[in-house]
Amino acid sequence: MRHDPHEVFNQSPPYVDVDLFGSDLPLQTAVAANGAAGEAAALSAFGRRWGAVDAFDLARLANECKPRLKAYSAKGVRQDFVEFHPSYHHFMQESIGAGLAAMTWNMAGARAEAPSEVARALRYYMVAQIENGHMCPITMTRAAIAALAAEPALLAQIMPKISSRQYDPSFRPWQEKSGMTIGMGMTEKQGGTDVRANTTRAEPVEGGYVINGHKWFMSAPMCDAFLVLAQAEGGLTCFFMPRFTADGALNGLRLQRLKDKLGNASNASSEVEFENAFAVRVGEEGKGVRTIIEMVQLTRLDCAISSAGIMRMALAQALHHARHRSVFQRDLVDQPLMATVLADLALESEAALALTLRLCRSFDRAGADPQEAARARTLTPVVKYWVCKSAPGFVYEAMECLGGNGYVEESVLARLYREAPVNAIWEGSGNVVCLDLLRALSRDGEATRGVLETLARQTFDLPGCGEAVKFVAQVLSGPLQEAHARAAVERLALLAAAAALQESAPDIAAVFAHARLEGRSGRSYGALELAPNEAKELLERALPTA
Ligand SMILES: Cc1cc2nc3c(=O)[nH]c(=O)nc-3n(C[C@H](O)[C@H](O)[C@H](O)COP(=O)(O)OP(=O)(O)OC[C@H]3O[C@@H](n4cnc5c(N)ncnc54)[C@H](O)[C@@H]3O)c2cc1C
Repeated sequence: MRHDPHEVFNQSPPYVDVDLFGSDLPLQTAVAANGAAGEAAALSAFGRRWGAVDAFDLARLANECKPRLKAYSAKGVRQDFVEFHPSYHHFMQESIGAGLAAMTWNMAGARAEAPSEVARALRYYMVAQIENGHMCPITMTRAAIAALAAEPALLAQIMPKISSRQYDPSFRPWQEKSGMTIGMGMTEKQGGTDVRANTTRAEPVEGGYVINGHKWFMSAPMCDAFLVLAQAEGGLTCFFMPRFTADGALNGLRLQRLKDKLGNASNASSEVEFENAFAVRVGEEGKGVRTIIEMVQLTRLDCAISSAGIMRMALAQALHHARHRSVFQRDLVDQPLMATVLADLALESEAALALTLRLCRSFDRAGADPQEAARARTLTPVVKYWVCKSAPGFVYEAMECLGGNGYVEESVLARLYREAPVNAIWEGSGNVVCLDLLRALSRDGEATRGVLETLARQTFDLPGCGEAVKFVAQVLSGPLQEAHARAAVERLALLAAAAALQESAPDIAAVFAHARLEGRSGRSYGALELAPNEAKELLERALPTA
């Protein structure tokens, strides 16, 4: 006989088996606004697949059963291998199979036609709601192609492995595999941002270079090859370093430890020493930063997509719970104060999505339109800064909407909370991306000012936008440019978000500008001025009840 000590009631049912696309009106409107309406049917199938109960469960497993370093075999032979739980391999298979590492490139390694960037971002946004750690190697693989363009012969060998959309987890030379992944090693102990302080050295040998030194953070060490920076005679240089040498021997990448991280648990991040590791040069000696920066721009874009996805899942969990939890004889969602908190979160989430997808559209159009190219260059650090910085506080507030249930490890919110800060820290942390905007300004001030003028035109009738445009222009041309860069970047991000919402959801743009640009929001979510019908509409739009 089963013994039930008591009946469990007034708990929200699990938020699983959801259609991540069909249940998200902001997503659907942003799809149409960014030139990807033709993708709707495929996205709908994708959203149901990734929102299935099994996907949620596998994501939990991939993060609970962390990767383990097997530096040596049982007999003491060096093998530098990381073992992952099958759930991690499942996600790698799904995401690579869906083209997330490949679909923005054609077979020759050039940009695929529009709207490939938006189409990929829409999928990435849904994946990020479920499992983020495995996307690290996928992000790096797709972005590495931009840097490898500097070596067309090597790129021509690699592209068939990327375009195959096959995940091949076997540990052998990449040339023998059906598909491959590529990681990145820049950060050393003495300097991550300041890569010019790299001490790793490269000496020329026949057919390439041998590299000796270390990397303090090198994520996804089971990638088949890495783009690494090392000092060659001509200065800091980018190299392609495979896990195996051409004769099939294990290359000299000695994995020392895996980082014990706050979050991002399904992904392995290693400390590695290079012991006569063989590598080939990518780009000219001394042009390492210039070569790898092509890759970094794309990884920054993915950080923003990932954070927008994290925010969306946190919002959906909070709203779902509030609709099923009654307090003082009334559903939480109908308590006016909770409705305002949730509506504020919904507003922020929609703005993050609209802003990010609009930026992806600029990448799609950059080849044919110099203004869009300038927009992509100017706004990538800005969007990365704002969306990635929004996510941790956002997830915390969503967590609080679930009360104590949000704080326990079994809750998806706990995992999202630990995951959220990393997107701001890696790939250019807050100050670094602010300085990157100033660098863009100093290299091509006309283009940057042109972007601001366009945003001014697109938002001229929205509250608070005119003042924001003036403020940004003043800081960017003033004597305290660097000291006040965060203030300018924040304001620029809000303007760009308002402009993006104008294109996808004009009614929301007005509410957003009133709240965030006219200053009618508070320090925490829920401290904004909203009419009761506005809160209701925002929530129904975020997660329709019918
Ligand atoms: C989970 C994880 C995985 C990672 N994976 C990889 C990887 O695969 N490959 C890789 O190469 N790296 C990786 N990194 C490293 C990451 O990119 C670096 O940590 C990051 O670039 C910052 O470098 P740093 O840690 O040396 O900090 P520092 O460069 O010392 O920066 C410290 C702080 O100073 C600020 N700062 C720097 N310069 C300035 C300035 N001029 N003015 C004002 N403020 C400034 C920064 O914004 C930051 O807040 C990973 C990091 C993490 C957390």
